[in-house]
Amino acid sequence: MSLKRLSFWVLFAVAALAACVTTPVSQRQALILIPFSQEVSLGRQAYGEVLKKEKVSEDAHLTEIARRVARRIARISAMPNLEWEAELLDSKQQNAFALPGGKIAVYTGILPVCRNEAGLAAVLSHEVAHVIARHGAQRMSQQLLVTGALTAASISLATHRDRNVIMGALGLGVLYGITLPFSRSDESEADEIGLVYMARAGYDPNEALRFWTRFAAEKKGESPPEFMSTHPADETRIKQIQNRLPAALREYQLAAEKLGLGETFDIKPEPDRSRGEKTRPKD
Ligand SMILES: [Zn+2]
Repeated sequence: MSLKRLSFWVLFAVAALAACVTTPVSQRQALILIPFSQEVSLGRQAYGEVLKKEKVSEDAHLTEIARRVARRIARISAMPNLEWEAELLDSKQQNAFALPGGKIAVYTGILPVCRNEAGLAAVLSHEVAHVIARHGAQRMSQQLLVTGALTAASISLATHRDRNVIMGALGLGVLYGITLPFSRSDESEADEIGLVYMARAGYDPNEALRFWTRFAAEKKGESPPEFMSTHPADETRIKQIQNRLPAALREYQLAAEKLGLGETFDIKPEPDRSRGEKTRPKD
């Protein structure tokens, strides 16, 4: 048996053993070959890489808002004990992400679309849901099986070959020039969990529907937002959120603290991108 064949069967055996992981909240069965500790470590490393490239915002007030929204969602999540951390990054990019290990970033460019704390909570609770459901680890595991090139023990950001796969799997592909959207079912699951989390954190879930509608309108510009390329807000998605609202509103009624929409952001809207102003990728 060739070495390649052998490694395939070893992977297959490992996959069979590890196949029965149940994700928190939605209780879906998922194939995860990456140990949780490694997932956390890769998330931290990726976060460090992004922070090295980006400029942290000097707006103390908006940073505090981003952090408190993140904190409130993290607290009621299925993984409250991760080392949660959030930064506001000064960039026109309309983007936000959360990584395994609890590392969150919000780009100032998305704040006008969020419009208020509840709008930001809609984005962050969705992103935190990807972490809780371990979608990044699932995608890395799929890559392990597809390519056979990576082995769970050795995957590392330091290896050029693995880097794009890891960044893409964690939802950071857009920042690294590769678009790798989450699957429709991952998106749907993150929406479902996110809507409940937003409500439990004390934010009016009605704003999620308004956020995704505003966000869909942004698509009409010449260059769609970064967040859009991995999170298309189509009619099906918006309808699904609409259908899930009653359940989320029941959660909101039970929330210990009700903040409604929270604070509204006092930000001038971004200039119309369709008139030629484009975000240049960072060097
Ligand atoms: Zn998503």
